[in-house]
Amino acid sequence: MQAETTSSRFPASDALLERARRVIPTGVWGHNRFPAFLSPGRYPVFARSAHGARFVDADGREYIDYVCGYGAMITGFANPEVDAAAARRMALGDCLNQPTETSVLLAERLTSMIPDMAWSGFGKNGSDAVSTAFLIARAHTGRRRVVCVNGAYHGSHSWCNWCNFGAGRPEEDSAMVLRVDWNDIAGLRALFEREGNDIAAVLMTPFHHPIGARAELPSEGWWPAVQATCREWGALLLIDDVRAGFRLDLAGSHHHFGFSPDLVCLSKALANTHPLSAVLGSERCREAAEQVFAAGTFWSASAPMAAALVNLEILSEPGRFEGMQERARALCDGLIGRAEAVGLTLEVTGPRTMPTLTFADDADNAVINAFAEAMVERGVFVHPSHNLFFSAAHGDEEVDETLQATSAALEAIAHVRAS
Ligand code: PMP
Repeated sequence: MQAETTSSRFPASDALLERARRVIPTGVWGHNRFPAFLSPGRYPVFARSAHGARFVDADGREYIDYVCGYGAMITGFANPEVDAAAARRMALGDCLNQPTETSVLLAERLTSMIPDMAWSGFGKNGSDAVSTAFLIARAHTGRRRVVCVNGAYHGSHSWCNWCNFGAGRPEEDSAMVLRVDWNDIAGLRALFEREGNDIAAVLMTPFHHPIGARAELPSEGWWPAVQATCREWGALLLIDDVRAGFRLDLAGSHHHFGFSPDLVCLSKALANTHPLSAVLGSERCREAAEQVFAAGTFWSASAPMAAALVNLEILSEPGRFEGMQERARALCDGLIGRAEAVGLTLEVTGPRTMPTLTFADDADNAVINAFAEAMVERGVFVHPSHNLFFSAAHGDEEVDETLQATSAALEAIAHVRAS
């Protein structure tokens, strides 16, 4: 595929992509290679810098950002306090032979913030945390299998390959994963009736946030039923709070929904763009956690942990978290209202700080795709098929500007709406 350099609004980004394709497979490594964002001429493929709730692309255009590094940013890009804490720790050495006191401070902080969690281990990515939690559950129960929800993403490791990631992944890699639909209590019970003696864990996100589909909240009976089924069969309940963590509740998303898991996985927003994940566990999982071998050369690096400590401090300041919730609500209400004004039903599903946007009667996604592109053209970066992220750095100014751009974008896509 050639970059569309002639008519593109992103000549610098496109030129970088041409260079990149020679030395990086597809030119972009990892999740951003998916078609939505690897569309030269429609989205900027490369960025230059970011501050607060905004970033600048390789062509020098500025955007209000609602992807937030796929959730990694929560207190602002290049947050001076967070980054200064990381830099101070960096000046003392980041990745040493031994862990530093920073790891103890962070484990103390997390276990005091998140109810029922007695200890914490660390990693770099969400995939590390989730895989380690699964390992611990297997060690604790002596069983092999894990129950996950159809359509849920838990990382790129081969065992969680049931989302059709494509090449190089034989089915056997995910043979230990059993699947159930979200909110399907009868289906979950039936799975346990069939395989319960070999189920080590149930691994779920706190609400269902599949990619390319509407988000779904737990039905009233879902978490009590999941928890009771796990207890009855002796399986552990693992919560993958990698994406939702710190956006629903600083005490963990399970606290928001009122249930008590055995293990909780955090990453993304934990250290505000610095690479860090954590797996937290209850007292009864401690022995298994002490037995398993899970490791990574960079896992005890201290600078991201120092960043996390300050990030959590900022999020815990009076009014900070509540302000984020309020502005996120105002944004979503405004988006719905602007769409309504032009006769469209914009569906906003999931919590307001991580909304998924879809339009009614848009089976082929033509309207949402056109809308996302029209927003990007107007300096508001939204993803067409992934949930968006709101942050504490998005102020009233960003919300107002976004809503103005929304009206203009909806106006500009009138021809798509009509077809
Ligand atoms: N779990 C969930 C719910 C996620 O959204 C992600 C990443 N999008 C992961 C796990 C994996 O995290 P990472 O990409 O940091 O390995």
